[in-house]
Amino acid sequence: MKVVIVGGVAGGASAAARLRRLDEQAQITIYERSGYISYANCGLPYYIGGTIQKQAELTLQTPASFKKRFNIEVKVGHEVQAIDRAKKQVTVCDLASGQVFQADYDKLILAPGAQPVRPPLPGVDSPRLYTLRTVEDTLRIREIAASGQVKSAVVIGGGFIGVEMAENLRELGLAVSLIQRENHLLAPLDQDLASFLHAHMREKGVKLLLEQSVTGFAETETGLSVQLAGSEPVSADMAILAIGVQPESTLAKAAGLELGPKDSIAVNEQMQTSDPDIYAVGDAVAIRNTVTGQPALIALAGPANKQGRVAADNIAGLESRYTGSPGSSVLKIFEMTAAFCGLNEQAAQAAGLAYEKLIISPASHAAYYPGGRQMTIKLLFDKQTEKILGAQIVGFDGVDKRLDVIATAMQAGLGVRTLKELDLAYAPPYSSAKDPVNMLGFVAENVITGKVKHFFYEDIANLPKDGSVTLLDVRTQAEYSRGHAADFKLNLPLDSLRERLAELPAGKPVYVMCQTGIRSYIACRILQQNGFDCFNFAGGYRFYASVHDDQFDADCRTDCGL
Ligand code: FAD
Repeated sequence: MKVVIVGGVAGGASAAARLRRLDEQAQITIYERSGYISYANCGLPYYIGGTIQKQAELTLQTPASFKKRFNIEVKVGHEVQAIDRAKKQVTVCDLASGQVFQADYDKLILAPGAQPVRPPLPGVDSPRLYTLRTVEDTLRIREIAASGQVKSAVVIGGGFIGVEMAENLRELGLAVSLIQRENHLLAPLDQDLASFLHAHMREKGVKLLLEQSVTGFAETETGLSVQLAGSEPVSADMAILAIGVQPESTLAKAAGLELGPKDSIAVNEQMQTSDPDIYAVGDAVAIRNTVTGQPALIALAGPANKQGRVAADNIAGLESRYTGSPGSSVLKIFEMTAAFCGLNEQAAQAAGLAYEKLIISPASHAAYYPGGRQMTIKLLFDKQTEKILGAQIVGFDGVDKRLDVIATAMQAGLGVRTLKELDLAYAPPYSSAKDPVNMLGFVAENVITGKVKHFFYEDIANLPKDGSVTLLDVRTQAEYSRGHAADFKLNLPLDSLRERLAELPAGKPVYVMCQTGIRSYIACRILQQNGFDCFNFAGGYRFYASVHDDQFDADCRTDCGL
């Protein structure tokens, strides 16, 4: 059996190696347009910033090592230019010599990835404007950014690659501005959770220009001027364009294969395209979003690798299916981590789902053991079925582990209340006896059974200010005097609340805030059992302050940390 693979990185290399492990006789050839195979795309920004110091670490595999270990022919610098489905042939161009030839296949795997989006804006072809996808791109950016001649950079796009590049260019000592069209970084997050990352990036000296649209680029004597709609242009020595990726489906389209959303390649669960002898995997294909059940583009390394394996299994005659992804992902932002899976509020609303949300601010490990840091978790669940719809976590420590537990629970179809029962490993340096994930289960149970009612940041503006409700802060006086929500004028510390109940106007609902949401929960339990209708502020004052400062502190929105 002759198997030809187009693209030799995450999906393609994974498919090739699995197929060889299943079939010693297959003739497997990979054609890869760039000069490298199976390289570490996800490590590219960290080579630019210098955390990964040797280029060789990014390119551990070579055509020779692949041949030796797997007996697979790898042709780098070879572009597949057309597919003839009737003849079962591909047209290949050796980019170095320009020689074009035909190669036969019995089975073809398309793993061509995606292309960085380059909008048709004036000046977009400037040599000072870079995109990052391949090792070659990386070497170009590293050479200029670390040359010592470049002092400033603009990153356009606040997605994964934009945020990672902003961090790594800062690590090189450049002055970095990041332009983002939306009001927050990282689309899988809601703005409230992103506010923590905004503050951290500003603190690290990244100038964030949110809600700004780029209209064009103009070369100047010294660099590049990035023009913005309705604002002053931003000048820098170089710019990185990271506004998203587009599935690389040119070949599939020309060959008449069925396409999915945004011209992605449509595949079934066996990773087969509309032609049963052609498989497709990775960033180029549409897969099932396991939360909505709808086709989705989930351009991540984990799904690409797993899909490569599934395609190889099926070619080798094994039963194997890829059933979809909730888009579990994690990202380093200087000293912080952000992780998410499933739907955020915006996506849940767009899908028309009736959801309930939990926001908690637990510590990463037991408070008495040094080094614990608070994280913020938002979890959405279906009001009716209690199915977990998505989670977002930001913090400094232990974020990835909690997200992975929640993602696993989602995949297993566990209801939100089951999180309280999960038997998770505990010792003080790692967690608390009630892990943050267990806490989500406890809070969910309290909400579902009516033991606690929550109110959220967006509710505060609509709370009556005519005295018909009581707005209460139950932190200590010292904490309260360091900062409090504007309308929360009454401060009764939790530990004196039982003695001071008479100070609360009888018969009026009480809205309570504390630092993290725990003391206010205890206060609500006291108040409810004393006849008050009580609402607990989800996430606590630290959450309130982060979102509020991000929205209203005009100085911090542009110049903090610079
Ligand atoms: P790729 O790995 O991109 O491989 C496709 C290959 O096909 C390319 O090398 C291309 O040259 C080749 N090709 C295309 N067309 C042809 C043709 N006609 N002929 C021959 N060859 C062709 N994901 C994560 O999950 N976590 C991360 O931290 C993360 N970080 C990332 C950081 C960066 C800078 C980038 C660029 C991506 C990152 N990703 C991350 C995404 C992840 O790398 C991709 O989802 C994954 O590599 C997709 O695998 P793929 O096989 O579909 O495509």
